[in-house]
Amino acid sequence: MEKRELLYSGKAKSVYSTDNPDLMVLEFRNDTSAFDGKKVEKLDRKGMVNNKFNAFIMTKLAEAGIPTHFEGLLSDTEALVKRLDMIPLECVVRNVSAGSLCRRLGVAEGIELDPVTFELFLKNDSLGDPMVNEYHVRSFGWAEEAHLNRMKELTFAVNKVLKEMFDQGGLILVDYKLEFGLYKGEVVLGDEFSPDGCRLWDKETREKLDKDRFRQGLGNVVEGYEEVGRRIGVQF
Ligand code: 5GP
Repeated sequence: MEKRELLYSGKAKSVYSTDNPDLMVLEFRNDTSAFDGKKVEKLDRKGMVNNKFNAFIMTKLAEAGIPTHFEGLLSDTEALVKRLDMIPLECVVRNVSAGSLCRRLGVAEGIELDPVTFELFLKNDSLGDPMVNEYHVRSFGWAEEAHLNRMKELTFAVNKVLKEMFDQGGLILVDYKLEFGLYKGEVVLGDEFSPDGCRLWDKETREKLDKDRFRQGLGNVVEGYEEVGRRIGVQF
């Protein structure tokens, strides 16, 4: 598959066109950013680790019947994906309180949420990805009703598969963010699933093994990601 022109370069990934208009190449870079791009660093091996982690997760999700854009690995840092028409929303499921939920509501970190909570954020860097509700989505036409319902259904279906998988590796899946797009009219999981976009804690010690290591300056960021990968069977 020929990598052609650079279509888009985000904070951690670049997207290239290919000779097939339905397919693109995702390149996972070592760049790591937090706080709306205010903290940026290059972390050795992170591109490779996230690419392989994401490939493993996307494959497991596809096996569980969740439609994803992932087609296959091209190299240590590149994956071939379907070209989606992205829906400008982030879907977040929270099993345990952490992060912006604690800051917004003044609740303690680590509360098990029953039922699990679902939140929507508008993808808009200049506004810092504000939280929105389903009425906003309808009023501004960011997604069709049926597509929004499908995104919610798939986000919860992902929780069922991954909560169990991480639990078996001695990890708590605290929360995660998913992005979806349309491919030939169908809602399909896009972007990536890696420790950059979820929270994972050791079940016994509650040690953070995700991007909070970077956000909070805890060190050993990529080592944390690799540890999580090893526990669920990712081959790096
Ligand atoms: P929070 O709202 O607490 O900041 O984030 C909730 C979850 O979604 C966390 O697992 C966080 O890593 C993920 N998340 C939220 N927004 C983004 C984003 O813009 N990029 C990435 N990579 N992850 C995000």
